[in-house]
Amino acid sequence: MGRLDGKVIVLTAAAQGIGRATAIAFAREGAKVIATDINESKLQELEKYPGIQTRVLDVTKKKQIDEFANEIERVDILFNVAGFVHHGTILDCEEKDWDFSMNLNVRSMYLMIKAFLPKVRYAHKSGNIINMSSVASSIKGVVNRCVYSTTKAAVIGLTKSMAADFIQQGIRCNCVCPGTVDTPSLQERIQARPNPEEARSDFLKRQRTGRFATAEEIALLCVYLASDESAYITGNPVIIDGGWSL
Ligand code: NAD
Repeated sequence: MGRLDGKVIVLTAAAQGIGRATAIAFAREGAKVIATDINESKLQELEKYPGIQTRVLDVTKKKQIDEFANEIERVDILFNVAGFVHHGTILDCEEKDWDFSMNLNVRSMYLMIKAFLPKVRYAHKSGNIINMSSVASSIKGVVNRCVYSTTKAAVIGLTKSMAADFIQQGIRCNCVCPGTVDTPSLQERIQARPNPEEARSDFLKRQRTGRFATAEEIALLCVYLASDESAYITGNPVIIDGGWSL
């Protein structure tokens, strides 16, 4: 018996990193997973896992989201993963950077939730929405994460308001707040710095555990939040950061 047997799960940004690891973990627990991403070739690699089907989706495009939602009859769990890290203070953040981050990290979740709420709502009266936030948000001030932290704090606000508005209809909404996770985009951020070795050491220094989280560790928390084991948990920013925010 899988912990997610019979559940239909839609998730975004599933081609790599946390999204990919979570799609695989969901399927391993018996869910029927619809994994979406903008990157078609990487996404297709997931098709080899039993229980996973893939669909190209750009979460910044309302028309694509609405068309996708119309194709789906029922969804038990929606997991909004897509997000982008802009490096810098407010002085480094041009209007285009601000708009891009707000659009991808926050507006996409608004669009996805609005489009999929009717499917989640009328599925089993036990719908479940999970959003990807971060400890770099309203939880912790982090240098050079100005617009990123602003967007991830907004995700916490969105999560709490969804939980409050729809609790009577049996819908839960939580968000996941990781510390630093070893994913392809983290490696890209390290390589993009003038001194990658120093950047890697700086990233590691802020982790009290002396190591990064793995995407698979974050996926295990997501399985718990998606499963009925967490039925009494809603409206929570769940921190998984190896003690970074202590
Ligand atoms: P990643 O950055 O390595 O991959 C992101 C994925 O998003 C890619 O597959 C990419 O193709 C996809 N994507 C980009 N734009 C898209 C769009 N418009 N529509 C659909 N998909 C799109 O992934 P990650 O590092 O695992 O991060 C995933 C989420 O976790 C993000 O929201 C991120 O902010 C959050 N997070 C990451 C860390 C970390 O240290 N890696 C820490 C805390 C929170």
